[in-house]
Parts: sequence; C-alpha cells; structure tokens
Amino acid sequence: MAKDYDPQMHTAEHVLNQTMIRLFGCGRCFSSHLNPGKSKCDYYFDRDLTVIDAAALESAVNIVLDQDLPVQERMVPRREAESLVNLSKLPASVGPDDPIRLVTIGDYDICPCIGAHVSSTGEVGRFCLISHGLLEKEAGSDTEQSVLRLRFKLV
Ligand SMILES: [Zn+2]
Repeated sequence: MAKDYDPQMHTAEHVLNQTMIRLFGCGRCFSSHLNPGKSKCDYYFDRDLTVIDAAALESAVNIVLDQDLPVQERMVPRREAESLVNLSKLPASVGPDDPIRLVTIGDYDICPCIGAHVSSTGEVGRFCLISHGLLEKEAGSDTEQSVLRLRFKLV
C-alpha cells in the first residue's frame, strides 16, 4: 500500500470514480495521486467539464458522503469477483487462485482495492473540486485519448 493512501482521500476517490461513471459514462480514473491536502485523478474523457457539470459532480459526491454509507471490505474468490467487477487492471502479482479484496460503499460502489479506507462516508468530510481541465497532449504520445484531470480537496 502506497504511503500516500490517506484513508479519507481514498474513500473519496472511490465515490468520485463511481460518480463520474454515473454522471458522464466514463471509466474509473486510470491514474491518481492521493495526498491528505489535495489529490488529483485522471480520466480518459473527451472534453472538459462545464461549470454546470462540475457543480453537479461536486454536489453528487457530497450527497453520497452525507448519506454516511458503510465502507466495507471482503475477500472473495476470483471467479466471484469477476462476475461483480472489472479485474482487468489487477497487478500481475495477483495469481489466478488468489482471493480478491473488494471494497463496497453502501450500494453505491464496488471496486477491487488493497488500500485503507474510512469505515463510513460520513468520515470523509466535504468534497471540494479545485479544478478540472483537459491535459495537453504530449508530443509523440501514442494515445489519441484525451485526459481530463480533476483536482480536489476535502474540507
Ligand atoms: Zn481503492
């Protein structure tokens, strides 16, 4: 577990990812940097958020946090996990017979994860989006996908 895995930020990241899926139909972030002060998550997404999108996102995340949903972990056999979640991003070190740790946030989100979490979403605080924007494409980059970066803090 990386030492920058602040439990409150980490739970916020899961809620944020599920909210991005539900509001905008994108995937979970493919990269994240979580720190106690502020964090950033990068998504494959074809446009920047509008002001209205950003407000809707912030409010939807905070509604989930306010519900004080339980955050629970359980170990399940890989076959069962495969029927519940996308396991395509598991590290190669996870063997085919290893059980998978799933983290659920009430009925809102389920995700394979090894990180530390708070025990309910009410412990996270308020989610505050600091900025959003598409990253400049790097010269010579082999991917055509545009990347939306969200920066956020908890207050
Ligand atoms: Zn996680």
